[in-house]
Amino acid sequence: MTGSTRAPFTADDYRDRMDRAARAAADAGLAGLLVAPGPDMVWLTGYAPTAVTERLTLLVLVQGRAPVLVVPTLEAPDAAQAAGAPALALRDWTDGKDPYAATAALLAGTGRFGISDNAWAMHLLGLQRALPGTDYASLTDALPMLRAVKDLAELELMAAAGAAADATFEEIRKVPFAGRRESDVGGDLADLLRQFGHSQVDFTIVASGPNGANPHHEVGGRVIERGDMVVLDFGGLKDGYGSDTSRTVHVGDPTDEERRVHDVVREAQEAGFRAVRPGVACQEVDRAARAVIAEAGYGEYFIHRTGHGIGVTTHEPPYMIEGERQPLVPGMCFSVEPGIYLPGRFGVRIEDIVTVTEDGGRRLNDTDREMVIVD
Ligand code: ZN
Ligand code: ZN
Ligand code: ZN
Repeated sequence: MTGSTRAPFTADDYRDRMDRAARAAADAGLAGLLVAPGPDMVWLTGYAPTAVTERLTLLVLVQGRAPVLVVPTLEAPDAAQAAGAPALALRDWTDGKDPYAATAALLAGTGRFGISDNAWAMHLLGLQRALPGTDYASLTDALPMLRAVKDLAELELMAAAGAAADATFEEIRKVPFAGRRESDVGGDLADLLRQFGHSQVDFTIVASGPNGANPHHEVGGRVIERGDMVVLDFGGLKDGYGSDTSRTVHVGDPTDEERRVHDVVREAQEAGFRAVRPGVACQEVDRAARAVIAEAGYGEYFIHRTGHGIGVTTHEPPYMIEGERQPLVPGMCFSVEPGIYLPGRFGVRIEDIVTVTEDGGRRLNDTDREMVIVD
């Protein structure tokens, strides 16, 4: 949840998003959308309940009807304060009543509804009981690009989050690494992200030496040594929008092999970035980065997709992966983050958030992509 974070959007902005979402749902053959608390609800209404409980809270969007937020009575005063509240009707229900029957009455007949990926199973089961004959698709499956194209105000917030992550890197490269635990440097990263305006820290990966060969190693108790490569990958939310960047630093002088592997990843990241332009399929960004690594002989050690979308969450569609034919559209934001992972030895990953422009791509992270030497 984004908690008290408030992005600078008005009720009109949220009304427009809800209209577009309902229209997109109808165009996709859906009877409507059922949106649970979480990123979709934040993006559509600005409402983030302080506590998500077993009580049903659900935004119902059906084209041609006013949006309705089904909300527990005790939460209704908070919901009424949300920036998007003037654009929707609140329908509260009190403990002891059946919220599913009340929701069923709002849905125009039966059909197929898109429902938030993170809706609780108990709520979906309740709706299925109350509305036999309806069918459901996950919102990510049904409308994967719903939040993918950012408007100008969103792009400014994305750029500010990226700049805060870059400022974090500029500070972390000055701290001592050798002799400290990964978790100590991870703590520094979290402190810096907050100092530079993040309200939420999602991950602070400090993967030293052999731990670097595991792409999602977070932080552990390992003491960093001279001679270690250290993958740093960190991000979170600032003013409701995400940051996510990686740089791989070296403690002291690197070996020729370490330098070569780092160079290959840097060239792969550059190739992925240069592939970005409107109309190009997402998979082409992956192919461009992967080709550089494969040609250098490290293909089997690049063990994940090249990138993921980012916005009000730090991982979302579109995905830069083989098989994803979705064309890039100006305003999309995603990571370009190739890596090479040598089991038992070390790993290298370099990651920038990139946004699609009319004639190419623009990086939202711009710290040194050459190998930075730390102490
Ligand atoms: Zn080394
Ligand atoms: Zn990352
Ligand atoms: Zn990432």
